[in-house]
Amino acid sequence: MRAEIIGVGTELLLGQIANTNAQYLSSELALEGVGVYYHQVVGDNKERLHSVLSLAKSRSDMVLLTGGLGPTEDDLTREVLAEFIKRPLAIDAGQLLALESYFVSRGRTMTENNRKQAMLIEGASFLPNPRGTAPGMYVESEGVHYFLMPGPPTEMRGMYQEQIVPRIRAIFGSQNTIRSKVLRIVGIGESAMEAMIQDILHAQENPTVAPYASEGEVSLRITAKAESEQQAFDLIAPVEARLKERLGNHIYGVDQATLSSVVGDLLVQAGQTLSVAESCTGGMLGVYLTDIPGSSRYFTNGFITYSNEAKQKHLGVTSEVLANFGAVSEECAKAMAEGARRSSESDWAVSITGIAGPGGGTTDKPVGLVYVGVAGPGGTSVRELRHRGDRNQIRIRSVKSALSL
Ligand code: ATP
Ligand code: MG
Repeated sequence: MRAEIIGVGTELLLGQIANTNAQYLSSELALEGVGVYYHQVVGDNKERLHSVLSLAKSRSDMVLLTGGLGPTEDDLTREVLAEFIKRPLAIDAGQLLALESYFVSRGRTMTENNRKQAMLIEGASFLPNPRGTAPGMYVESEGVHYFLMPGPPTEMRGMYQEQIVPRIRAIFGSQNTIRSKVLRIVGIGESAMEAMIQDILHAQENPTVAPYASEGEVSLRITAKAESEQQAFDLIAPVEARLKERLGNHIYGVDQATLSSVVGDLLVQAGQTLSVAESCTGGMLGVYLTDIPGSSRYFTNGFITYSNEAKQKHLGVTSEVLANFGAVSEECAKAMAEGARRSSESDWAVSITGIAGPGGGTTDKPVGLVYVGVAGPGGTSVRELRHRGDRNQIRIRSVKSALSL
């Protein structure tokens, strides 16, 4: 079974919004075992909508369209699909009533153009939309199943889950299920990781193993197709075990785990607290740590000490350290972490000081040179890092290195 997703809307083509509907539907359809083979995006234009529909019809069994179901002139999806499958559109009395009461219940008056949303293609059925005014529609024509959904993501998602998933299951019977597991990896680059697991990467068909890199970390997605969720995970398990054996400590978590959530879990388990002292990351480490709900259980406070004076005043970094080694130095990172730990009375403190660029680098201390310090119950350690990238990349990578350390 081949599914195709069509995003309708000129804003998508102009780059004003991202096609998150297609991303959502693709990942959800995978869970139903439905293969999505194509995405198309088209503006609010009759002829071009016709041509994407004929292309879709020529190669897909199921076509999901989002957008263009609203009341305005440029909302064409319903009309064009009716024309395309050569079926009449007519006002549906029940839907018109429902639409009128929707407006009444919200104290709004329904305008004439809203009546469009009560139009039904002959032989189609409405998909109710409790989150908005535009109902969706399902119609089958010449063996192709068409689903029309509104553009706004919350309306589309609700309609997909409540109305479309049950129909897909009924129409296509029980399909294969696709499940995946993501291993989260840090402290090693994508190509180095690939080299370590090349044989595993190439040997796979079911499950498949696909690496992908994001800023400062790498992930491996193991995906299996099977008749049930359990069977899919049974296929994943041995491959996961082999990857863990190879990559060892580089794997810090699975699936939804993030570096901050893993650090948080460790602190909660140990019943310990953490503070931070940041220079070049300007509070970003604190943002990452407090992204986790419940981080108040372990995160005490942070210092954004950008100037030398602030490092001295709030963290007790001495003028000797600054004069002899500079603010970007192992000694300063150590003093910052220890100062933060002392003043916060936290069990741990992490410091970051470095040169994020693009200016301010020298031959001795180039852009990307960053020191991360960790002060804890057993003493203080500092790591020197040489990151590449632009200012933002260097800052994110520094935060991730600090979390990883
Ligand atoms: P409305 O009744 O709100 O006009 P509609 O079905 O006509 O709904 P559009 O007018 O095409 O849908 O889009 C409405 C809004 O929905 C857009 O401004 C955008 O915010 C969002 N949207 C539309 N298509 C997508 C998409 N593919 N991905 C993410 N968001 C989208
Ligand atoms: Mg619209």
